[in-house]
Amino acid sequence: MKTLNDFNFKDQKALIRVDFNVPLNEKFQVTDATRILSAKPTIIKVLEDGGSCILMSHLGRPKGAQDEFSLSHIANKIEEIIGVETKFVSNCVGAEAEEAAKNLKPGEILLLENLRFHSEETSGDKDFAEKLSKLGDIYVNDAFGTAHRAHASTTVVAQFFPKNKCFGYLLAQEIESINKVMESGEKPVLAILGGAKVSSKITIIENILDKVDHLIVGGGMSFTFIKAQGGKVGDSICEDDKMPLALEILKQAKEKGVQVHIPVDVLAANAFSNDADTQVCDITDIPEGWQGLDCGPKSKQIFNDVVLQCKTILWNGPLGVFEMENFATGTIALGDSIAEATKNGAFSLVGGGDSVAAVKQFGFENKVSYVSTGGGAMLESLEGKTLPGIAAILE
Ligand code: AMP
Repeated sequence: MKTLNDFNFKDQKALIRVDFNVPLNEKFQVTDATRILSAKPTIIKVLEDGGSCILMSHLGRPKGAQDEFSLSHIANKIEEIIGVETKFVSNCVGAEAEEAAKNLKPGEILLLENLRFHSEETSGDKDFAEKLSKLGDIYVNDAFGTAHRAHASTTVVAQFFPKNKCFGYLLAQEIESINKVMESGEKPVLAILGGAKVSSKITIIENILDKVDHLIVGGGMSFTFIKAQGGKVGDSICEDDKMPLALEILKQAKEKGVQVHIPVDVLAANAFSNDADTQVCDITDIPEGWQGLDCGPKSKQIFNDVVLQCKTILWNGPLGVFEMENFATGTIALGDSIAEATKNGAFSLVGGGDSVAAVKQFGFENKVSYVSTGGGAMLESLEGKTLPGIAAILE
């Protein structure tokens, strides 16, 4: 796996695909600079070697060139974080970009305008990718968030750098973290899958059964498993058409020696509301008119015991409707258990959409080993797919 450390960037122009798809407020100020901070080590390495950086990214989903999606809005934030003046060109390809790239000196940064102002970016157009490739000497992909897309700047461009291409530090770290869980995790390995629906996680579950010793199925997903086994789930979220699949998963898990843990009790509510009346009940005996929105005290204890036994932990998806304060306790308790296991030496990876939001919201970000920066890319990796952006560097 070629990374930045395999290159010396002295007098080289690094064409770096970053993910600077950052949130902006109504004054076009960056409200969360995590993604810029995440790319900092890569940018600094190139500059310290005596090279220059040409940064390319998308921002939002523009339809053609729309000022509100211009990357010019974030140039000052990059300057502030990297501490180097950031030049900007208002088109990512063409004469102006080529001239600016040509004149770039060692130690300098050039930011290209939003790649998605050209529809050729998302269609993966080869000519467009070739135009981008003319701007730099070495291609660096550091954008995990778009690594599952076969776009011009994330995948197609790599073919124009047959020898001079590598992963940036962030992308390399993402790949290593996933490999630690999926390939080389110290046993026992645990995957915790929560969230709303079985249907959105099914491919992950199927792929992961070959990699783990324990599987916790929590959140809304658990009710499909419980009802499939004859339990009464009341008005809880449930996908009846996925019940045969749930039984098949349980059968496969048994054959593969995977211990599956499903909540035994829930905090049920008489409405999908933070102000609803609540009661703790057995997950197999939820009354009609009531729905399970969080896991109950016995389940928290069982999950805590499992987490503390394991040396490698993957967490995707909340254990309850954590957006409502009264139904966040299961997700918080799980975060506490994972933090403790991590402190005791386990490797913990949190990834994919809502679990990342939960981890940030409840302050667990620095108490787990790694929080992935890519939602869709992370989910596809867990499904066992080879991401096109990663394959393009390895080819
Ligand atoms: P996902 O995107 O599949 O990870 O699902 C995340 C969503 O699942 C969050 O918005 C949670 O509120 C929701 N969720 C978790 N547990 C439940 C539950 N018991 N009932 C309904 N929704 C839930």
